[in-house]
Amino acid sequence: MTIQRFFPPRRILMGPGPSDISSDVLQALSRPTVGHLDPLFIGMMDEVKTLLKYAFQTENDFTIPVSAPGSAGMEACFVNLIEPGDKVIICRNGVFGERMRENAIRSGAEVVLVDDQWGKPVSVDKVAAAFAENTDAKILAFVHAETSTGALSDAQALSKVAKQYDALTIVDAVTSLGGVPLKVDEWQLDAVYSGSQKCLSCVPGLSPVTFSPKAIAKIQARTTPVQSWFLDQSLVLGYWSGEGKRSYHHTAPVNSLYALHEALLGLYNEGLESAWQRHADMHQKLKQGLEELGFKYVVDEACRLPQLNSVYLPEGVEDAKTRQHLLEEYNLEVGGGLGDLAGKVWRIGLMGYSAKSENVALCLKALQETMGK
Ligand SMILES: *Cc1c(COP(=O)(O)O)cnc(C)c1O
Repeated sequence: MTIQRFFPPRRILMGPGPSDISSDVLQALSRPTVGHLDPLFIGMMDEVKTLLKYAFQTENDFTIPVSAPGSAGMEACFVNLIEPGDKVIICRNGVFGERMRENAIRSGAEVVLVDDQWGKPVSVDKVAAAFAENTDAKILAFVHAETSTGALSDAQALSKVAKQYDALTIVDAVTSLGGVPLKVDEWQLDAVYSGSQKCLSCVPGLSPVTFSPKAIAKIQARTTPVQSWFLDQSLVLGYWSGEGKRSYHHTAPVNSLYALHEALLGLYNEGLESAWQRHADMHQKLKQGLEELGFKYVVDEACRLPQLNSVYLPEGVEDAKTRQHLLEEYNLEVGGGLGDLAGKVWRIGLMGYSAKSENVALCLKALQETMGK
């Protein structure tokens, strides 16, 4: 057998996630493992919660990282909030809206779909019309930042409509958290999930979630048990917030949580507003260069994500071959398109630690050379 140790190269990650990880965060990951009920570790967990509350801009007590990737945070929100028979309005304007629909159906929901074209934000008017026809809808679910297309939806306006009908909101903030303004309390969002490997620039595999008191009340009023044992948040709560004493639920991913602590501390020290501004500034720089090279944006300027630049390939640029060249020659990863956009667009990420001048410069230089400009 000739299997040897694996030493990956240091890539520049400018796709739809994971993003570049700073050496501070990588170092935190390699610190000695302690027991997951060690008092020192529990102290660190409390700090992770405090830092997450800051990142989400919320006072919600129930704000924790689920020990699994963003998809598990999504599932946690759906399986906990939905009881069989609940009517749920789902907005679908890309891949992740469709996944929300699948989650809701598996949770036994009666789904009302609001469809928007890929590349467009969720239409607030259509959602208002859907509520007018379904006044008994209990939940509105939508994706804040659709990573499959690069479109940003107006979470505040959508939440306002839901509140008029006394409905709860489930919000996918996997790509938005840390990259664009997200204000959970001010916008009155109820169940919000994110991911560690996008604008937080932490290792993949953790999903920060936050539940409002209203969302917790809906979970506590359930008459049927959550069908997932692992994601049943009423059980997880005993581990993350038992006063003083913590009970065993599952073994926390101790080292990954060191990394999350470090990444969130970095965000706190930089300041959320500064981080949002940095993403916007880097986006402007990249946009200028890309447009000079003939790339055209998929999404209208008003609702474009700075952290996910979705652009049509100029004529003569082959998708897979060129991306492979960028990876091999420049160690640079950019993302391809999904669904109907596959082969036609690239998704160039500027997420978290990847949103910096050196990366923008490298990406533009690599493209200029590759395209012979
Ligand atoms: C990446 C992503 C997810 C899924 O996160 P994973 O960590 O890959 O499971 C969900 N929603 C959106 C909008 C995403 O970009």
